[in-house]
Amino acid sequence: MVYKKRKIKVFRPRKKKESIDVVISKLKQDYEKIDPSSIEKFDDFPLSAPTIKGLKENKYLIPTEIQRESIGYSLRGEDILGAAKTGSGKTLAFLIPVLELLYCNKWTRSEGLAALIITPTRELAYQIFETLRKIGIHHEFSAGLIIGGKDLKFERKRLDQCNIMICTPGRLLQHMDENPLFDCSNMLVLVLDEADRCLDMGFESTMNSIIENLPPERQTILFSATQTKSVRDLARLSLSNPHFISVHETSEYSTPAGLVQSYMVCELHDKMSLLWSFIKNHLHHKVLVFMSSCKQVKYFYEVLCKLRPGTSLLALYGTMHQTKRMAVYESFCRKQRAVLFATDIAARGLDFPAVNWVVQLDCPENANEYIHRAGRTARFQKSGESLLVILPSETPILEQLESKKIPIQEIKVNPSKLTSVQRTLEATLAKDHILKESAQRAFVAYIKSVFLMKDKKVFNVSALDTDAFARSLGLAVPPRVRFLQKWKKSKEAKIIAKESEDLTLNNDLRNKLNKTSDYENSEDEPESDHSYRKDSYKFHDDGISDEENDDLLTIKRKDHNIPDNNDDIQENSNNEEQIYGDFNKKNKKPLTKAALAKKMIKKKIKPNQKTVFDEIGEVVLDKTKTKVSDLAREYENSYDIGGIDIEKAKQILREEDKFDKQLFREKVKAKHREQKRKAKEAKRAEMEDASSDDDVSVDLSWLPDPDKVYGKNNNSELDNDSQPESNSNYEDEDDDDEDEKDEELSQIHKPTKRKLLISNSNKKRKKLNEIEDEPVDTGLSLVEDEELALQMLDT
Ligand code: ADP
Ligand code: MG
Repeated sequence: MVYKKRKIKVFRPRKKKESIDVVISKLKQDYEKIDPSSIEKFDDFPLSAPTIKGLKENKYLIPTEIQRESIGYSLRGEDILGAAKTGSGKTLAFLIPVLELLYCNKWTRSEGLAALIITPTRELAYQIFETLRKIGIHHEFSAGLIIGGKDLKFERKRLDQCNIMICTPGRLLQHMDENPLFDCSNMLVLVLDEADRCLDMGFESTMNSIIENLPPERQTILFSATQTKSVRDLARLSLSNPHFISVHETSEYSTPAGLVQSYMVCELHDKMSLLWSFIKNHLHHKVLVFMSSCKQVKYFYEVLCKLRPGTSLLALYGTMHQTKRMAVYESFCRKQRAVLFATDIAARGLDFPAVNWVVQLDCPENANEYIHRAGRTARFQKSGESLLVILPSETPILEQLESKKIPIQEIKVNPSKLTSVQRTLEATLAKDHILKESAQRAFVAYIKSVFLMKDKKVFNVSALDTDAFARSLGLAVPPRVRFLQKWKKSKEAKIIAKESEDLTLNNDLRNKLNKTSDYENSEDEPESDHSYRKDSYKFHDDGISDEENDDLLTIKRKDHNIPDNNDDIQENSNNEEQIYGDFNKKNKKPLTKAALAKKMIKKKIKPNQKTVFDEIGEVVLDKTKTKVSDLAREYENSYDIGGIDIEKAKQILREEDKFDKQLFREKVKAKHREQKRKAKEAKRAEMEDASSDDDVSVDLSWLPDPDKVYGKNNNSELDNDSQPESNSNYEDEDDDDEDEKDEELSQIHKPTKRKLLISNSNKKRKKLNEIEDEPVDTGLSLVEDEELALQMLDT
């Protein structure tokens, strides 16, 4: 018997799927119960399923300290001021609440902007965007990266579909100003990553304008390793009662535990050799080198590439093209060993994996910037090393580092281990003119950066040995630093002005004390000027404290004399969005071509104009290029920006037309004249050939001039006929007469003329002979003829 297996179907009651509203209300209820100390895993937070899934898939299981401490408050909708060391996971601390906020508000794509995340640099915005994409993969929201250097039109069209926008301040403001699709009226949350940087002077006006446009009813979250506590900043953001979360405030040091920090005092002219030696000794490491300006980064990169150090070199700076910037950023992320030269655009927030060394070749602006730069290594439980290079005059920065709880040890430069590259650089620059110019620009940019630093106790431009520095860069002749010369001059002028001020003060004082009459004093004044001056020096030295004296010589950042349009100033800035805000160029608009044209019209500048002067200094007008009519010239002189007078322009055109026609006629005439001349020349040449055929074998050109030998009147017969012609031949030779004949004759070579004359005179002589030989018929009889002859003889 065959038994068939029977399948028995078991019916289980189906799990009822909770409606989203129930899930959301449960989550919201749980928010109130969050206790950071009891949180061990992300699962312990009341988070939505898509977020948990996204975190797990990216191996984010255990929250870091700042995440554990802050996420609960953020979920509850409180304003947050979060501070934690570099590399401690602040990004997730704000991204998770952002996703949850949208989820709990059942935000749909069509509802527009809900969260705005602002960061100071493009690379950082990109990095945050990538992290958001990873952890938010199971959510339905749309996110947009709005940064400078990208396709503005493309962004413009899609802006209204963006639920989470990650942006840099300048580009955001541009959209706010220009894009009708930009609408932030429903926005729920504003996040500032690297908040202190976003709110500092560099972005001040841009951020103020952005904040003005945002709805006041919103949550605000600020994060940074060096958080702002400035009441002014908080007031700007309308943060009345924010929750301050600083997880490492009580820790011994403000920098990551795995970071080994050292500093080195080094002369400016030794920096290049130091860097070269460092690279050669760390060929298997991933190194990030900070410099103070774009031009330095560019030059160091270019020149050291030529020296082939044996590791890949990269450069990242603000004036680079956006695509290249991104390529460099990604390349350095991927590489296991490389050296990246960068400005401070790489100082904030960037999470390059596994950086072994951070070298600060130029001194950072302040202790906070030091923390951010050094924080590019030893991130998230890893270790790393940092080297700060300072000049002997920059040692006061060490006090600031100490007061910020930064453990840093001095290491000495071993001069024997320094490999000088100066000679090689000199040779390289001698061959490469472009590189030499780059070196010159780097030189000036560095000095400018020192000059513009706010902290004059640390940065002293007068202490720089600029000549030695220039030589160390490979420059045989140090470039002129105009702004420095100007500054020194104005400094001297200030001192003199101060002296004379003191002098007047002193005089007043004397006048009051002196019992002698005013009249006598005033009389004495000019003579006693010298002695007063002496006194005033004394007064200056004794009476003004050191502090005041310092103040007198201090150039404050906003007051500096360097022209605003100078690109060196721009490149010195750490900020990404130069166009929209910079402490050096506050309220400065970009100089567009149209603006430039307007400026030129206003100042009546004619581009590429060449003025020719004659010997007596009169302007020579080129009729073909300038307007010659009186009317046109009058109009040009009375030219103003108020537009074009069409009627007058027509009139001028008619006037100018007359001159043009005249010019044309003259040209045609000249052309005809030239043609005629050529034709005549050809004819003469023919004749010459013909005449030379007569005396083929005899070239008489070598004979001496018979006129000179015998005098002009010797051959009267010949002279009478040929004189006018011969005269014209010789006298007109240097004559400038425009007569065609003369012109033509003056072209002929002397011996040929002689030959021609001889041949002509031969012909004439022939003619005369012929006449002489012929009998003359008088019409009279022979007797009458004889009588006539006798009469003539008598007379
Ligand atoms: P911060 O903004 O504080 O400087 P980041 O947010 O850039 O730090 O994070 C630094 C690194 O730590 C990143 O590589 C990030 O992926 C990693 N990280 C952050 N949070 C966690 C976590 N909970 N678990 C594992 N890795 C994390
Ligand atoms: Mg960060």
